[in-house]
Amino acid sequence: MSKPQSAEINARCLMCGKTYEVPGDHKDYKKLTEQKIDPTFICDQCNYRVRHEADEQKKPKKPI
Ligand SMILES: [Zn+2]
Repeated sequence: MSKPQSAEINARCLMCGKTYEVPGDHKDYKKLTEQKIDPTFICDQCNYRVRHEADEQKKPKKPI
């Protein structure tokens, strides 16, 4: 029996609209396989950007 080693799923990023091949070890992979039609997720880049922006907003702004 051979395992599906290079399991990938095509998913579209909700934020940038790009389609990515999400590898089987991605944290959202399982979630994506459950979305039968047009699987969507937030890609790593957008994830990072969102988190980064959230951090920026949390920081108190210094008055210049
Ligand atoms: Zn994206």
